[in-house]
Amino acid sequence: MKLYQAFLSVGLLAGFMACQTAPVPCPETTGIVPEIVREGVEPTKPEATEIYEPIPPKVTPGVGAAGFSSAPSDAVVLFDGTHLDAFYMAQDSTAAKWTINDDGSMTVANRTGNLQTKENFGSVQLHLEWASPYEVKGENQSRSNSGVFIQQRYEVQILDNNDNPTYVNGQVGALYKQKVPLAMASAPTGEWNAYDIVFHAPEFNAAGQKTKSGTLTVFHNGVLIQDHVTIEGTIEYIGWPKNVAHSEAPFSLQDHGDNSRVRFRNIWLRKLDSVL
Ligand code: MG
Repeated sequence: MKLYQAFLSVGLLAGFMACQTAPVPCPETTGIVPEIVREGVEPTKPEATEIYEPIPPKVTPGVGAAGFSSAPSDAVVLFDGTHLDAFYMAQDSTAAKWTINDDGSMTVANRTGNLQTKENFGSVQLHLEWASPYEVKGENQSRSNSGVFIQQRYEVQILDNNDNPTYVNGQVGALYKQKVPLAMASAPTGEWNAYDIVFHAPEFNAAGQKTKSGTLTVFHNGVLIQDHVTIEGTIEYIGWPKNVAHSEAPFSLQDHGDNSRVRFRNIWLRKLDSVL
């Protein structure tokens, strides 16, 4: 049994046992989703939550899988290559400082901080395209690291993993430190990738307890890499996922702070609460 499987099994068993013995109410009678109890005490080092195997298989995406596609008619277009008006800087709400390029993309401006949408969102279908730079610099987590922070809390990792191994629950397409992707479907370094994400937001009651877990599905260049997985809580660099009540929230794109030079283009989403 792998480490993460042990965590999950012990957590689910602990939750079940607690549910069966008063005074902890069972979820089927209250609708409350118990927070998964991880094995042992809260880790204090990032290495404690890194998983290195099994390594997801590499799948070569089809030709044109990440070709530029225009937004559907009911989409909220967040970036079409002409301006950054839908975003501001996450840390101080000032004007977006990332660089717009002549080819209709934008590049992370190093150490300016994360780019964050001005609007809050609930459940969404999100499309974006990204590319790491052709010129390779750094290794492991420092090679073209960015990410999509859905509702500011749940990161789908962006990383140049071509000939660049790292912990598999932090590799490209991972729900960072929670879900290893089913496959590694990256385009060659420097070329465009597409993420198509379906996110269903978690729900909380008035007391701040989670009543429904969020879920995540991700296609990477048309390849399914996250299949309606349950989001356990916030992504954490150190420690276990947390569940703090929140409502609709922005999503942000990560400036990892080590000159990632990651580019983005063609970002749009559909609000699922209005189409389902
Ligand atoms: Mg990242």
